[in-house]
Parts: sequence; C-alpha cells; structure tokens
Amino acid sequence: MVQELKEYMLKQTKLDRIIRWGIKWSMWPVHLVTSCCGVEVAHTSAPVFDAERWGVLPFNTMRQTNVILVEGTITRKMAKVLKWVYEQMPEPKFVLAMGACAIRGGLFWNSYHVVQVDTVVPVDAYIPGCPPTPEAVIRAFFMVGNKILGKPGPEVKPVKVDLTPYLPQPKPAAKPAAKPAAPAPAPKPAATAQAPA
Ligand code: SF4
Repeated sequence: MVQELKEYMLKQTKLDRIIRWGIKWSMWPVHLVTSCCGVEVAHTSAPVFDAERWGVLPFNTMRQTNVILVEGTITRKMAKVLKWVYEQMPEPKFVLAMGACAIRGGLFWNSYHVVQVDTVVPVDAYIPGCPPTPEAVIRAFFMVGNKILGKPGPEVKPVKVDLTPYLPQPKPAAKPAAKPAAPAPAPKPAATAQAPA
C-alpha cells in the first residue's frame, strides 16, 4: 500500500505535468489587431472580466510570447508576415482565430484579398462571433489550456457553408435585336419614248 502510494505520488508530480501546468497558466497573447474584434480583447482584459486572473497576460511582441490572437481579417499581404512571425516564435506556441472574419472571412468572405487564418498557420481554437464576447475569448483560452493538459474538452470547429447562392446572380444575356427589314427596292423610272425628229 505504501509502495503504491509512493508510485502514485511520483506519477502525480511528474515534471511533464508541472511544465504543462505552468504553460497553461502562462498564456501571454499578443494582439494581432487587424480589425474591429480587437476592441473586445481590450474588454476581456479590463476589470470586469480580467482575464489576467487565468494567466492571460497581454504581451507586446510576438517573438517573445506563446500565443497569437488573430483579431479579425487577414489579407494576403498580412498573411505572409503572420507566417514569418509564427515561425520565429519559441515553442510551445498557440494560435487563436478570433471572429467570423478570421475564421472564414466574415463580411469579406468572397473578397479577392482576404484569407482564412487556418490556411496560413495552424489554429488551436476558434472564437466565433462578430465580434465575439469577452466570455467567448476566455473560453477559448480554457479550451487551449485543456489541450495543453491533454484533457478532453469542448471544441469549436468552423463549418463550411456555401454562400455562393447569396451572391448577385449574373443577368441572363439579352437576346440579339431582330435585324431591321431590308428596304424595298426603289421602283425603276419608266423609260421615256423619244419623239421622232
Ligand atoms: S468578425 Fe465582426 S467584429 Fe470581428 S473583425 Fe470581422 S467584422 Fe469586425
């Protein structure tokens, strides 16, 4: 019994568990404020919700933190920079896609220049809404925390919806106008008889 208890205690204090626990409570997101969703992140850190209670401490630079919170639309130009920065971040690193625009393009879903975040970097949690509420943002951090600890938990997966029918439909091609009727040939002048000299 004592031996069993000892083994149990050793198992519970495995270094890996302690490290995971430390990461879970030290998720320091950097804002990648690309659109209006950023306003709600300020709200999340403000006194009412105070996400810092759960270790979510906003940070200044992506290269020295472990979470990128993509707050809104990502354009093709920004996608390139997002990827570069993500690759330079130290492991372990996490990405949260915040808002309809980051998840599927939102209002700009069929724009030529908007890309989905998960086509650029791997996304660990999606935060649906336009904009998502501070509660939704905090829930996403908990979802990532569960992943870090290896615990099963609820997940939000984006659903692909075909919005093509809602696009303005092309107008049917106009019928070619009927050709105007050819003008009737002018009557030939009647031959005049010449009087004999
Ligand atoms: S999801 Fe809504 S609030 Fe967020 S960036 Fe897009 S339009 Fe703005």
